Amino acid sequence: MARRVIASERVAERGAGQVVSFVRGLIEDKALRPGDRLPAERVLAVRIGVSRPTVRMGLHALAAMGCVQSRHGSGTYIPDGPPALGTESLSLLAALHDFSRQQMYDARRILEVGAAGLAAECATSDHIASLAEAVVSLFASTDDPQRFLVHDISFHRRVAAASGNPIIAAVVEMVSALYYEQRRETAEQASNRERREAAQSHRDIFQAIRAHDAETARRTMNEHLLSASAYQAKETTKSAAPRRVRRRRSTPGAV
Ligand SMILES: [Zn+2]
Repeated sequence: MARRVIASERVAERGAGQVVSFVRGLIEDKALRPGDRLPAERVLAVRIGVSRPTVRMGLHALAAMGCVQSRHGSGTYIPDGPPALGTESLSLLAALHDFSRQQMYDARRILEVGAAGLAAECATSDHIASLAEAVVSLFASTDDPQRFLVHDISFHRRVAAASGNPIIAAVVEMVSALYYEQRRETAEQASNRERREAAQSHRDIFQAIRAHDAETARRTMNEHLLSASAYQAKETTKSAAPRRVRRRRSTPGAV
């Protein structure tokens, strides 16, 4: 009996894999483009030769990877806008391997210092306008830790988008989701003065990008991430260990 259940699960997994390959094929052939709606579940079931529950399993897997988005009552779509990977897989890895804060900041510096340099070289006027908007939002939210955190992350994603490299933008997107998970527990502990200083260092990065000064953009991003890491080390030392388990067990490395 147990063996039969396992066998049928394997068949379903194989079927879901066929759904993933089928949709990937449509994307690779440009039959599906950003913003397009996928064929209905029953149509996919007939075309792929699997059951509708299997189609749903495949679509869930694609959604977890960030390749499709399900919109309530309207169907499944290829996401519009900049490419983004699902954050599920990295969050899962973080929970499994206890990514540390230091590892995350090291990864961010490797990615984002380079991204800031590229942004200084490649940013269009739209990118510059979008970065200016993010800096204004940062200064406007120095008395609200959670809003400040959201604008902080948004600024870094916009720098990555301004790099003009969609691979970097997608990876920064994923790593910054991890940063949000780590930071939101302790963000309240920074003072208004610390947030004002942080807002200023974002403005320095922005000004270097606007001036197309790649070297200063890299240096200011590096300094910002080093001091952000030092602030966060202070916050997490102050915060008692139980905070770590109170909310989400999957919150990685928030110690
Ligand atoms: Zn920042």
